[in-house]
Amino acid sequence: MDIEICPICSRPLGKENISKHHLIPKSRGGKDSELIEIHNICHQKIHSVFTLKELRDEFNTVEKLIEYEEIIKFIKWVSKKAPEFYQRNARMKRKDFL
Ligand SMILES: [Zn+2]
Ligand SMILES: [Zn+2]
Repeated sequence: MDIEICPICSRPLGKENISKHHLIPKSRGGKDSELIEIHNICHQKIHSVFTLKELRDEFNTVEKLIEYEEIIKFIKWVSKKAPEFYQRNARMKRKDFL
């Protein structure tokens, strides 16, 4: 059986606190075929760092997301946490994950 890996942090996804991210925000014309499954905490981080416009116009692939300096730092930090680890982030730019 394959272990599902989060494309952002490369840790196993586990069963809890996972969510789907549109590489191109759905509210900006993204399609469900561009969904990736990632940890809630990775998802939250993406949306706290990038605006929907930045996601649509620039950071619309996994490669671009994980090359961004703040995401690199986050990946280092989260790599030591349990896969289910999740905490709400007051810096969220949007409450929903679209
Ligand atoms: Zn992750
Ligand atoms: Zn998202």
